[in-house]
Amino acid sequence: MVAGNWKMNTTVLEGIALARAVSELCTPGMVVEVAVFPPFPHLWPVRGALGVGPVLLGAQDVFWEDSGAYTGEVSASMLAGWCDLVLVGHSERRHLLGETDAETGRKFAAGLRHGLGVIVAVGETGDERDAGSTFTVIDRQLDAALSAVDEPPPTGAWLVAYEPVWAIGTGRTASPEQADEVCAHIRDHVAERTAADAPRVLYGGSVSADNAAELFSRASIDGGLIGGASLRPDQFARIVAAAANAAR
Ligand code: PEP
Repeated sequence: MVAGNWKMNTTVLEGIALARAVSELCTPGMVVEVAVFPPFPHLWPVRGALGVGPVLLGAQDVFWEDSGAYTGEVSASMLAGWCDLVLVGHSERRHLLGETDAETGRKFAAGLRHGLGVIVAVGETGDERDAGSTFTVIDRQLDAALSAVDEPPPTGAWLVAYEPVWAIGTGRTASPEQADEVCAHIRDHVAERTAADAPRVLYGGSVSADNAAELFSRASIDGGLIGGASLRPDQFARIVAAAANAAR
């Protein structure tokens, strides 16, 4: 999967144009799933722009309750049926907005409860990596998500995105070896904890048209969560092509 996280970017018209450009890259039955994550107010018009094509539509966040007095929040039940995916635990939510592991877990559970595919983002800060605690942090974040559900979700119902915080939006990509090592660890940890096959594991953090092929060639990396480069159709097209080549 190649997923474009547009973050808090695009006007509605720019979002529609970008969605159309992404649609043009994709044909039904292609070997790579492609998804876009526009800002909340653009989800509905982007749904229209994507039409019945193969591009998946995702929300960048979701709230854990279904309805009620939660000003500004959007629930999974509001997205179910016309959105395909939700992203939870993005590092900007964890680190800029103070979202806890437990809150991310509740969001994970809410998305799954409503039949949305959920991408759980995990990743260590630069200090945590330097202190040698990368795997401890990743395991804690994964365990918090899995503790929030009664049963381990089926493999196809969720994905993990490994996004080292020090690599997001910084232009500093994890080396393919570093990314592959952590993605392999995620796979092993989930399989051990759930006694089920692990979900697909994506890498995110300054993926570009120039480094995507090398990252996607690694055995444990099943695709990418792309921030900045997903706003540039030419770049995003080259990243999707790199994923398609790696999948063949
Ligand atoms: C992201 O937002 O998930 C991300 C990986 O951003 P960027 O590609 O810009 O580092």
